[in-house]
Amino acid sequence: MADSFADKLLNWYDKHGRHDLPWHYDQSAYRVWVSEIMLQQTQVATVIPYFNAFMERFPSVQALAEAPVDDVLSHWSGLGYYARARNLQKAAKTVVEDFGGRFPETQEELETLTGIGRSTAAAIIAQAFGKRAAILDGNVKRVLARYQAVPGWPGQTAVLNQLWQHAEQHTPGSRVRDYTQAIMDLGAMVCTRSRPACDGCPLQQDCTAYARNETSLYPGSKPKKVKPEKTTWMVILEDNEGRILLERRPPSGIWGGLWSLPELDPAFGSDELQEACEQQLGLNCGEPRLISGFRHTFSHYHLHIQPARLSVTRQEGIADGDRLRWLHRDEALTLGLPAPIRTLLTEPGQAPLL
Ligand code: SF4
Repeated sequence: MADSFADKLLNWYDKHGRHDLPWHYDQSAYRVWVSEIMLQQTQVATVIPYFNAFMERFPSVQALAEAPVDDVLSHWSGLGYYARARNLQKAAKTVVEDFGGRFPETQEELETLTGIGRSTAAAIIAQAFGKRAAILDGNVKRVLARYQAVPGWPGQTAVLNQLWQHAEQHTPGSRVRDYTQAIMDLGAMVCTRSRPACDGCPLQQDCTAYARNETSLYPGSKPKKVKPEKTTWMVILEDNEGRILLERRPPSGIWGGLWSLPELDPAFGSDELQEACEQQLGLNCGEPRLISGFRHTFSHYHLHIQPARLSVTRQEGIADGDRLRWLHRDEALTLGLPAPIRTLLTEPGQAPLL
């Protein structure tokens, strides 16, 4: 049963909420789903141009299911967390093959689709089908953890279960579309991570964390774990026709399925890179030129990337194919590339010509 929490939130939403995001138009299950997946780790302002370009290229679940995976990844390039894009396409194929191209309308069936968890399924049910379903994304967790003063890190099952109970309790039976957007908006616009704007919050009167002056304690933080540091060489290998060697990464793991630069064993020193190229790739190369290194942080570790450019003087054992390709820079930039690799290939300051 909904309470005044929902009424207050809806009144606030009518005046201050976001009513004109691109996915608010034509709220089909497909559009809601893609927006939800894009928004999982990414801010609204970043998502908007990606969402529009994605919809233009893949206007339906059928179009997404049939597209080459490189095309899908290239439209995700820069958004990060590429498993989301691969899962999107996998789920699109299931919708087409097993559900005749129409999204199922029950929570249970939606959750069978790759990459769709309880909250995403609920968002589709509420926003596309207008049926009552409670969501609990990152924004909603923060609002509810503070409003109810739920201690602990929401990554722990016991904490999460408590938050789900509150989410279920507050979700109204009517205007569920608006309520779903309203609670996400409140988390994004008012009950923000670092400094919640409690004075403009419609829930202030009954908010437990606010009453105790403890908003900074909720939600609890993830227990700290030091991320390991790893290093790698990444080589820009250029042949005498100006083509660069790219390597497709394995389908799972970091940057899964994306095209990247070949990596060399970090045990090799900078004066041993020619030898490393010969041993690992069967290529004869000229003198290496080092480019400024940088650190990239993944969810589980930091990676120090030391790039180097080498001209290839003789190729042996490397053929064009599904894993390794010689491509001109312009062609390479049309593929799905991780953002740091795209920068390396496009910014002359980062990658001076040989
Ligand atoms: S009063 Fe402050 S802490 Fe409580 S829900 Fe509103 S913005 Fe969040």
